[in-house]
Amino acid sequence: MIKIALLGSTGSIGRQVLNVVDRYPDKFKIVSLAAGSNVALFSLQVNKYKPQVACLSNPEKIGELTEIPKETKVYYGENALYHAVVDNADIVFDAVMGYAGLKAVKLAVELGKTVALANKETLVAGGGLIMPMAKEKNVKIIPVDSEHSAIWQCLDFNAEKEFSRLIITASGGALRNVPINKLSSVSASDALMHPNWNMGKKITVDCATMVNKGFEVLEAMWLFGAKREQIDVVIHPESIIHSMVEFSDGAVISQMGVPSMEIPIQLALTYPKRLYTATEPLLLKGKSLTFKDVDLDRYPAFKVCDLAISKGGVYPCALSGADESVVELFLNGKIKYTDIPLYLEKVLEKTENLPLTFENLEYADKISRILVNEIYNDRSGL
Ligand code: NDP
Ligand code: MG
Repeated sequence: MIKIALLGSTGSIGRQVLNVVDRYPDKFKIVSLAAGSNVALFSLQVNKYKPQVACLSNPEKIGELTEIPKETKVYYGENALYHAVVDNADIVFDAVMGYAGLKAVKLAVELGKTVALANKETLVAGGGLIMPMAKEKNVKIIPVDSEHSAIWQCLDFNAEKEFSRLIITASGGALRNVPINKLSSVSASDALMHPNWNMGKKITVDCATMVNKGFEVLEAMWLFGAKREQIDVVIHPESIIHSMVEFSDGAVISQMGVPSMEIPIQLALTYPKRLYTATEPLLLKGKSLTFKDVDLDRYPAFKVCDLAISKGGVYPCALSGADESVVELFLNGKIKYTDIPLYLEKVLEKTENLPLTFENLEYADKISRILVNEIYNDRSGL
């Protein structure tokens, strides 16, 4: 029986982790659950899985959990999340959205726990600290993001296996067919209509801008020890090939399947075994697989991500924090879609070059959000 600490249980990934647990109740047990604000769903989950620890981060929701099982200890508030990294878990599944996920991973690594990592912000912001720590402690960081799971599968589940190139595929996001000169007037609901994947709001907007792909480049660099020049990104609108690995002899291996997160989520928990999932079979007859270059006029934010990658240090963390704030402004109808890359670039310009430490990450994350607000209040500088 594998004991899972599940962080972000009410989200798109978290709910699918629970589907896997429901499918194989003799293999998995939930020992802790953590969520942010969705107290209604969280109450149902806590009642159903009866974890030893349940954590709700939104301090305004204190006391709103109903019918808590007697065996469950409840934590509320900003730091509640970290109580979900319990001592007797075999695996910490980080499916939280945003920077909050990083500190949970740090704690899990310190405790020597295997981490199934959906929360890409952990590696974007802090990969330079988390990966060496994990190596030193001999802790496995298992990729859940579909592209990284695909690469890991192509590498026979061995993240250290040699390769010459990684080819990461991108769907192009919800706005891929909108004429570039119309992008300034798209609404949040337009950007949330992803053609192939059903995900949380922030990552769906990140897919449209391709900030998500920039993050995934960095995620791949940390997970597989790749240099930036070893990674190609191609637009593959069908989302059938989830990524590819080229080896020194020129052979390229890809991983294919219908676009469903259930496969990478379940595989992170069962590998090297593959068990039945409820996904539809991949039917290729009559389908075409197409590939295109990334058009930087359409996706200027992808270029900004590369700038942060080349600057290194705390810059990717500042980019990630800024992106969380900017996407929120966009989702709330306060800024235009085309403002997003401008804000991100401006924040990088204003970010101080600090040595890479956990304290400085904390600082860079906080300051980046303050900078976004300052830029918003003084939009004349954009
Ligand atoms: P969602 O927005 O659907 O869910 C986020 C989850 O995190 C929710 O359970 C939310 O709680 C919880 N949460 C957010 N902040 C906190 C906090 N401070 N403390 C505790 N819980 C918190 O996001 P997704 O499931 O889509 O994505 C999760 C992560 O996985 C992201 O990093 C994303 O980039 C990555 N990912 C997602 C994919 C997908 O298909 N969805 C694919 C690949 C990667 P609540 O809702 O209760 O507020
Ligand atoms: Mg992905």
